[in-house]
Amino acid sequence: FPSRLPNVGTTIFTVMSALATEHQAVNLGQGFPDFDCDPKLVDGVNNAMREGLNQYPPMTGVPVLREAIAAKILAQTGRAYDAGSEITVTAGATQAILTAILCCAGPGDEVIVLEPCYDSYVPNIELTGATVVRVPLTPGTFRPDFDKIAAALSPRTRAMVINSPHNPSGTVWSPADMQRLDELLAPTNVLVISDEVYEHMVFAPLRHESVARLPGLAARSFIVSSFGKTFHVTGWKIGYVAAPAALTAEFRKVHQFNVFTVNTPMQHGLARYLQDPAPYINLPAFYAAKRDLFRQGLASTKFRLLPCEGTYFQCVAIDGLGVPERDLSEADFCQWLTREIGVAAIPLSAFYGNGFDQKVVRFCFAKKDETLRAALARLAKL
Ligand code: GLN
Repeated sequence: FPSRLPNVGTTIFTVMSALATEHQAVNLGQGFPDFDCDPKLVDGVNNAMREGLNQYPPMTGVPVLREAIAAKILAQTGRAYDAGSEITVTAGATQAILTAILCCAGPGDEVIVLEPCYDSYVPNIELTGATVVRVPLTPGTFRPDFDKIAAALSPRTRAMVINSPHNPSGTVWSPADMQRLDELLAPTNVLVISDEVYEHMVFAPLRHESVARLPGLAARSFIVSSFGKTFHVTGWKIGYVAAPAALTAEFRKVHQFNVFTVNTPMQHGLARYLQDPAPYINLPAFYAAKRDLFRQGLASTKFRLLPCEGTYFQCVAIDGLGVPERDLSEADFCQWLTREIGVAAIPLSAFYGNGFDQKVVRFCFAKKDETLRAALARLAKL
């Protein structure tokens, strides 16, 4: 039967993780920690289960969690979201993004993405029947190019997906970038899906610039975040969307017939854990130490380090390596690196619709220091 997604195969993250397992490689490909979360968080979930909090929660998420999320956003951005009508708990960011896109766009509409971009956005837009409009980020720096974004806006533009801190490049939008976006969209009705899953991984002296900080942008935005990233539990698949009441009402119409709601005990466990902000306040220093360890190790190799302002990803250029495999495509290089050197990485070409190849690959440094050292020992051969 005709495919709704004829150009889509299995995600690069699944492919590279399977290859890493097959070859017993150190897996710095797919983005997930190889260390466990805080036992206090697990205790909170266990306790909730024992307390009998095991039946359907409200469709929108348990009130204590929505209140904790609203308090966190207020403390971090100064914007008050109403826990009742403006916060929805989701089954991770992936479901949140699909649901937001589904309620924004349909056939005849255009949705802008900034390439390179996370691999779910484009198939999500295609599933709605809307047209994907790809705007390149500035080559080399991966910063937004507002002239190009302005040129891409049309009367049919319904929405735009943005992502800061940015996967895969680790770029963080500045206050001036947010201001420019705000001004550019001010005369339009364009909605924004702001993927902020790495919001708590921005390295000093920078700060996370949420769209929530600007009234004009906040009014048109679905802010998406993920507890999987923030609390080292990517397998829990739980996150949230914050959006003004009118947008949230539309979001919930789709959400209720998509997953309906998200598992109860984890919501209670997260609500309890969020009472103490220390875990996410301390996250930038925690990951900055890992980033620095990894970057220092790579500095003595011929990989060329790109900047890393946020996220838990480090991109490197491979064109100066002293091995002939540097001339392979990024995807083939990553396969070779996994099989022969024993370290898995992700090709940046996977984040482009046309497979654009710039000889850059991405490593994930959300790993135990010993894992990073083991990977560095293998990479030192290059
Ligand atoms: N976001 C993770 C990454 O970029 C992968 C998530 C997934 O496997 N879908 O590596």
